[in-house]
Amino acid sequence: MTSSSFHSAPVFAEALETHWRDYRTSKDFAFFVEFAVSLNSLSEYLKQCQMPGLMRLAEELEHIALALFGDAAQHPLLAEQRDNIEGKLAHLLDELRHHKETTTPGHRQSDAPGSDCQKRSRGVLIVATDDHPSLEAMCGQLRFFGFLPAVTSWSELTTAEQAPLAILCLPEQPGAWPEATVTAIASLRTHFPSSHIYCLEVPVELENIIRLQRAGVDTCIPATSGYTDILPLLLNLVRDNEQEADRVLIVEDSQVATAVARRALAQHGINSLSIADPRHLLDVVAQYRPDAILMDMYMPFCSGVEATAALRQVAAYQSLPVIYLSGETDIAQQVEALRLGGDQFLTKPFNPVVLAAVVKTKIARYREMRQSSQHDGLTGLLNHTTSKMRISQRVAEASPGDRFVVAMLDIDRFKRINDTYGHPTGDQVIRDLAWLLRGRLRSSDLIGRYGGEEFIVALSDIDLACAITQLERIREDFAVLPHAHNSAGGAIYASFSCGVAALADYPDASALIAAADMALLQAKRSGRNRVVAAAIAASCSIVRAEVEEAAGSAL
Ligand code: GH3
Ligand code: MG
Ligand code: MG
Ligand code: MG
Repeated sequence: MTSSSFHSAPVFAEALETHWRDYRTSKDFAFFVEFAVSLNSLSEYLKQCQMPGLMRLAEELEHIALALFGDAAQHPLLAEQRDNIEGKLAHLLDELRHHKETTTPGHRQSDAPGSDCQKRSRGVLIVATDDHPSLEAMCGQLRFFGFLPAVTSWSELTTAEQAPLAILCLPEQPGAWPEATVTAIASLRTHFPSSHIYCLEVPVELENIIRLQRAGVDTCIPATSGYTDILPLLLNLVRDNEQEADRVLIVEDSQVATAVARRALAQHGINSLSIADPRHLLDVVAQYRPDAILMDMYMPFCSGVEATAALRQVAAYQSLPVIYLSGETDIAQQVEALRLGGDQFLTKPFNPVVLAAVVKTKIARYREMRQSSQHDGLTGLLNHTTSKMRISQRVAEASPGDRFVVAMLDIDRFKRINDTYGHPTGDQVIRDLAWLLRGRLRSSDLIGRYGGEEFIVALSDIDLACAITQLERIREDFAVLPHAHNSAGGAIYASFSCGVAALADYPDASALIAAADMALLQAKRSGRNRVVAAAIAASCSIVRAEVEEAAGSAL
């Protein structure tokens, strides 16, 4: 058993240059195939790194290459075709060199807002008229979450040297995108190929959207969604890359087929592991936890179809994608294989670009499915069941003396916010707290949406006093965080109450969670907008004093 790992952008770029040079010198079609494969890998990589502008350049070239990829008779290419590719390749490599430092995502910071040291730019260029009604509130909200907004007008478009993370275009007239504006966007696109361009207040009309897309806009946001919807999108752009690399298990008795498949996967940043004997399948799946399986049809001991049917007997593996790899061309057999639990059929010898594309798509769907069953739709945090289960797991795995703190948070007088400003504004407040927690806690901390406006947080390797200090800071910042609402163009404020308990004081996870919940109740009773520790929750005044002392001493 062996496994392989991920490549990075400079490696892809170098491979691209080498394959093209080799093709130019030798005119050998095999090198052109390599060139097309590297281009495809590069676009995938740029997509993962959230570099939409560079990805577009790579994809444009990839489409040209793929059109010339299926037919060896078109090679060697005509001089004109070659020059076209060469020009585009030079442009792409130039841009890659420009942006090569921006692909390493940082870790979540537990510091104050604005001190985020992610390697990506946090600049947001807003193109709008000075008196746009949403402008001020929008800038305020962006700043709070650590972005650096800069405003420029359509008439005097000024642009900074450094590429902003995102460009937000607000039309001069509501919903109107005249030709001059579209031309200005196209020039922004050329100037900043790696920035993500959003247009707000775009009417949902195909012609309009296509005009903007052609000018290079990445995302069109309809007038029906307010400008507050932009924040989660921007936060997603700088989101931690918490996702692990894709893992594929190859079950194949032919060494050559295995080597070809692994190479194709590795070129696309997919890790893989191979086994030649299907009898090890269940053990290896349990250990390696693949995101997809490539399954040979004919092997010693049993067929791929039988192995897949056996895999499907285990409830946890029922939706794990299985892709058959086989020389089989008989349609009836393929249909039967799919009916018995496979997801897709690829005929050997397979095209490596197609193989990687199929695997990526299947894995993306599978991950989405897992994500939606474990995460809450409004905030993207873990849902009630999953957060409780994960906390129980951590408590069960804890050794005596391990420091582990659980906190329950509940937004104060939330019903009033809903009643006064409407449910969508209430949702926005919930989301803002979720984003604030994500921004401030460490990647190793657990954050869940426990109920409507209630959150659960579990912090590892931290003692109670430090946890309280940290939660106090979040509480103070949340209380001054302006929540945008679209109707009055203004902002509203909210607060939360919080109960905290440390594992050292309780026998198990349910007692720990119950204690944090009791402390939360105490925090509500003693006036809201405060953090209360469970161990000493018996008397309110003592609680306040101790909490303050603990927070003070840890500062
Ligand atoms: P307290 O300070 O005691 O916590 O008062 P409260 O008003 O926050 O508490 P209460 O439990 O009375 O009200 C919570 C409200 O939250 C009731 C419910 O309609 C609302 N709610 C629950 N889930 C959601 C949601 O997803 N979105 C919105 N907008 N409201 C929600
Ligand atoms: Mg075989
Ligand atoms: Mg509440
Ligand atoms: Mg509540």
